[in-house]
Amino acid sequence: MKIRTGNGYDVHALAEGLPLYLGGVRIESPLGCMAHSDGDVAIHALCDALLGALALGDIGHHFPDTSDEFRGIDSKILLKRTMALVSEAGYRVGNADITIALQRPKLSPYIMSMRETLAGLMSVEVSDVSVKATTTEKLGFVGRSEGCEVYASVLLFADL
Ligand code: MG
Repeated sequence: MKIRTGNGYDVHALAEGLPLYLGGVRIESPLGCMAHSDGDVAIHALCDALLGALALGDIGHHFPDTSDEFRGIDSKILLKRTMALVSEAGYRVGNADITIALQRPKLSPYIMSMRETLAGLMSVEVSDVSVKATTTEKLGFVGRSEGCEVYASVLLFADL
C-alpha cells in the first residue's frame, strides 16, 4: 500500500452582506467571504491538501481566479474535480482533518453537516472527516473578524 499526506491552508477576507459558505454548508452570518468563487475557504484548503498530497500543484493552478469559468462557482464542484484527479492517480482518501479559525459565528451547529457534505464529496465515511472550529481569542485578523483562516490535512492511500 502506498500512503501520502498533504496539507492545505487558505484565507479569505470577510465583508458584510456576502453569503458565508464553509465545508459546503451555508452559514448564517452577517459576514461572508470575498472571493472569485463562492468563497468556501474550508473546501479550498481541503483541495490544496488533496493536491499537495499528490504534488499536483495548488488550487489556483487548476482553477484560476482569472477564469470566467470559475466566477461564483460552487466550491463543491472544485472538490469534485479535485477528487477526480485523486482517483485518476489511483488514490483514495483515508481521512481528512480540517481546522477553521473564525471569530464568529459559532460553528458548532454546522459541524456535522459539514462533515457529512465533505464525506459525501470524497466518498468516505463521516467518521473519516474531522471538522474543528476555533476562534483566535479576538487576536489578529481572524479575531477582528476581518478574515477566515483554514488548515486542512489529508491522508491518501493506494493499493499499488
Ligand atoms: Mg480560496
